[in-house]
Amino acid sequence: MGTASTEIPATRRVPGARRAAAVAVLAGAGLVGGSFSAVTVAAQDISPDVSLTAAGAPAAKSIAAGTDGLDPSLAAAYNSAAAEAHAQGVSLSITSGYRTPAEQEALWEDGLQTYGSPEAARRWVLPPSESTHVTGQAIDVGPREGAQWLEDNGNHWGLCRMYDNEWWHFELATAPDAPCPARLPDASDR
Ligand SMILES: [Zn+2]
Repeated sequence: MGTASTEIPATRRVPGARRAAAVAVLAGAGLVGGSFSAVTVAAQDISPDVSLTAAGAPAAKSIAAGTDGLDPSLAAAYNSAAAEAHAQGVSLSITSGYRTPAEQEALWEDGLQTYGSPEAARRWVLPPSESTHVTGQAIDVGPREGAQWLEDNGNHWGLCRMYDNEWWHFELATAPDAPCPARLPDASDR
């Protein structure tokens, strides 16, 4: 299962109302390392069209819901995979897909604050110029069981888990039914 980090920064443990939604977005972005933390659960409960800056204030643009804004090939692959998962009774949904450059910048800046350096932050979040969420080529999924199902079955549609430290992050990374490439330790190795 490999939760590379189970430690949640102290600032993230305080469930203040103002911070809660932004923290949930960060959890969806993979900034919260603990797989089974209450914060991660909160990310799945949040309305998908909630729009927030890193500080928790309303942003001008909504965070895309579901497959909105994704590369059409990725959206089609995910929709087919999700239909099969649901047919098998497995819960699976996108917790974070396409992000605007501004949304990614807010996540990156929050990551810098949380982890203290670009080198440490890059394990969990990339700047807008490098993030595959900004190009519509990545999805974060949940809950844990659904992500595990996608890890086990996603290659039938070309979908692969990419990083050892992010069980939720998938990309179109192989041909349908071909094996997935070896996972990278984390996003900083990209
Ligand atoms: Zn991701």
